[in-house]
Amino acid sequence: MKIPIEPALLINNKLVPASDKGTFDLFSPHTGELIAKVPEATPEDVETAVAAAEAAFPSWSSLSPAERGRPLKKMAELVMSEKDELAELDAIAMGRPVSTFFDSFYAATHFNYFSEAAYPQGHTSLNTPGFLNMSLRQPFGVVAIIIPWNAPLVFFSKKVAPAVAAGNCVVLKSSEKAPLTSWKVSQWIEKCGFPPGVINVLSGHGHIAGQALASHMKVRALSFTGSTRTGRAIQIASANSNLKKVVFELGGKGPALIFEDADLEQAAKETENGIMWNSGQTCMANSRIYVQESVKQKFTELFTKLAKARKMGDPTDANTNHGPQADKVQHETVNKYIAIGKEEAGETIDTRGEVNGTSKNKKSLLVHPIIFTDVPETSRIAKEEIFGPVAIINTFATEEEAIKKANDTEFGLYAALYTRDLERAIRVGKKLESGMVGVNCASPTGAWDLPFGGWKGSGTGRESLLDSMDHYLEVKSIYVKVSGIEGIV
Ligand code: NAD
Repeated sequence: MKIPIEPALLINNKLVPASDKGTFDLFSPHTGELIAKVPEATPEDVETAVAAAEAAFPSWSSLSPAERGRPLKKMAELVMSEKDELAELDAIAMGRPVSTFFDSFYAATHFNYFSEAAYPQGHTSLNTPGFLNMSLRQPFGVVAIIIPWNAPLVFFSKKVAPAVAAGNCVVLKSSEKAPLTSWKVSQWIEKCGFPPGVINVLSGHGHIAGQALASHMKVRALSFTGSTRTGRAIQIASANSNLKKVVFELGGKGPALIFEDADLEQAAKETENGIMWNSGQTCMANSRIYVQESVKQKFTELFTKLAKARKMGDPTDANTNHGPQADKVQHETVNKYIAIGKEEAGETIDTRGEVNGTSKNKKSLLVHPIIFTDVPETSRIAKEEIFGPVAIINTFATEEEAIKKANDTEFGLYAALYTRDLERAIRVGKKLESGMVGVNCASPTGAWDLPFGGWKGSGTGRESLLDSMDHYLEVKSIYVKVSGIEGIV
């Protein structure tokens, strides 16, 4: 791979620079090296891409579902055959260890599934005398997709595949922190057989190309995964422009409840992975762990031992399971919260210096796992999303107290609970204000055919193999007056 990489935008199946030739620098979070000069898409590029998508829409949406599925199937093959390069590109861009790269398998499953799933159904009705009525489900036209950096190919595939399978044409903006996998996939779009304009891929910052997409009058629907703060800005831009339909998967501050009858070793292993996976940069991470008082000491010891066994270092090394934070901004933010936590928490367990394989590279933006215990529930570290390898271990005495503490948040994405008492599991699971609840399992455990999404400030939609297509289809009712059928009902 020639470094620095010089990626391009994909507009109308042409790989092009930004209209003003502007670029921004992308640095490796592990070595500090300049790894790419990435095009900064301008509002004019957004105009051109939206126009290309709009022009492609009539013929693309007229194809049969099977014809639209063919290029998706080819894409599924390519993301698998090129998985090592894709893993490497995310590792050098945002520090995600190649050992944790499941994204190609995830993407291939989504491209494959939606290549055969685009048979949306309306319904018919004879319930109005004298009418044969029907509802149709039709694509929106131009759909914008804005994705984050923590698993870019996952978000690319889970949104683009159902959107184009349903007959829409897409303008996707990748994250400025991890644009390389989206750029790589964009090089295969023509080769897979997508006509010009069906999928356009832009890189650049949110306040420029992202804002232009969110405000665009021709964009009729927008699917976004990212922070709650940005979701709010996009909601406002949508309201101030054309009230486009928006679907949001946003941030989290997930609780995990560990009852005294739980398998503590399993709970410690899975919740440690839940918060430390991807260096804590996961929306579903169980960043708040509540342990029943009688087992707090044992649980904390087990958890700490696991955190200390993390293999930190070069994300391109297959032995590493804990890479650096994504960039300097993330690194500074996490360290700022750690400093606040040291003031707020009753106790700080800092694994610095004890974790295996700590990189000698002084430029690496690594952050050691940190565990805070006895944290006031009103403190900033208990309330705000840190997005780093920072776990809070607090206690509860009763089931009621555990539920109250778990729900005392504006987020509601993923909650976990550990107990051997099945009735308690169902009772507590029902009361948790959360889009997803793991019983005797923790994030990232999920199921691809169950709705993924959050309550409260964590989102407004649900995505899955079975749910996602709905976001990309408008519904129309057609009332057909027919003389002579009055007596049928
Ligand atoms: P972010 O909100 O900073 O950025 C996400 C995307 O939005 C990027 O492409 C960015 O360029 C763009 N953007 C920024 N400002 C914009 C604006 N004003 N208008 C339009 N677009 C704009 O989030 P991030 O730092 O990339 O990702 C981390 C966040 O994403 C965390 O809060 C995490 O919890 C959340 N997340 C949620 C899920 C989920 O499924 N619920 C999954 C992954 C990440």
